[in-house]
Amino acid sequence: MPRPILATVHPEALRHNLDRARYFAPDARVWAVVKANAYGHGIERCFDALRGADGFALLDLAEAERLRALDWRGPIHLLEGVFEPRDLELCSRLHLWHTVHCNEQIDWLAAHKTLVPHRVFLKLNSGMNRLGFKPAAFRSAWARLNALPQVDEISLMTHFSDADGARGIAHQVAAFEEATADLPGERTVCNSAAMLRYAKQALHGAQSLAADWVREGIALYGSAPDFPEKRASDWDLQPAMTLSSRIIGTQALQAGDTVGYGSTFTADGPMRIGVVACGYADGYPRHAPTGTPVLVDGVRTRVVGRVSMDMLTVDLSALDAAGIGSEVVLWGRAASGAVLPIDEVASSAGTISYELMCAVAPRVPFR
Ligand SMILES: *Cc1c(COP(=O)(O)O)cnc(C)c1O
Repeated sequence: MPRPILATVHPEALRHNLDRARYFAPDARVWAVVKANAYGHGIERCFDALRGADGFALLDLAEAERLRALDWRGPIHLLEGVFEPRDLELCSRLHLWHTVHCNEQIDWLAAHKTLVPHRVFLKLNSGMNRLGFKPAAFRSAWARLNALPQVDEISLMTHFSDADGARGIAHQVAAFEEATADLPGERTVCNSAAMLRYAKQALHGAQSLAADWVREGIALYGSAPDFPEKRASDWDLQPAMTLSSRIIGTQALQAGDTVGYGSTFTADGPMRIGVVACGYADGYPRHAPTGTPVLVDGVRTRVVGRVSMDMLTVDLSALDAAGIGSEVVLWGRAASGAVLPIDEVASSAGTISYELMCAVAPRVPFR
């Protein structure tokens, strides 16, 4: 028998979460953001469930090729644009729409020979200070692009640094409104958090903040970007991935017995623990401390002691019936239907769901 660890992708959850974008942003088109191999879920595994999206957004050209190989004829948006001039040839050949965030990318376009003019998304740095033109440089970048025969439609975009947090987006929305005020073109500003929390807000007077396109990433995969303020179930999002395994050993402990490397857990009375075939080499976070939630036979219990490379240990004190072979859900949905939100595991381990999804190791088989 193969080692019992398994990652399961739930297509019906992906469909449901895509529908949620239609609810929150009814007038916008939806990019399914599938960068990082669909946040670790696998582009090919998710494709059928997500083909109802209006387009796919990602940043790796090889991933764009994989989508075209799946026969996706609709829009594909390269969120970081091209990395070198010859990438533009692939954009022409595969009809990829691409972000333009710096003058070098405009220089490369100006030198590019193409029969089909490109659709581009001019990116404003509205305060995040990662990619994009500063407001003062935005108009001249637009004018340069607009003069190029290589360029067809110019759309306008920006990205929020705090859509999930306390600072919010007002300062960046104001910067975007000012920099783009009388420019034509479609607009896209919302990631998942902005879509869930602010899509009803106004942009440019009549238009909602959802604008022409929303870029839905993490919410598609069933995680709440603003956890713990909101849980995925509060937004009616369903987990798109379950990481599960089984118990492969048990130990009875007495008061004073310790568990695992570094003896970080000490039993304060008689108790039983289970050993689970899942460790940090599977992508489970090593920093998940004692107390991190886990489901055994659909019942919530906790990790005890340090996570090791191939195993971790869980408290079975309240689970008399559990033993070798019992189902363990590290995050996602148990056979009983019980759900352990990935956000809770991530938060306990001091990280975010995005990192856990993307870190599921190649040795973990997917179903
Ligand atoms: C990754 C990404 C998104 C999606 O963000 P989520 O928080 O996962 O919804 C949107 N826009 C850009 C530019 C991105 O890089």
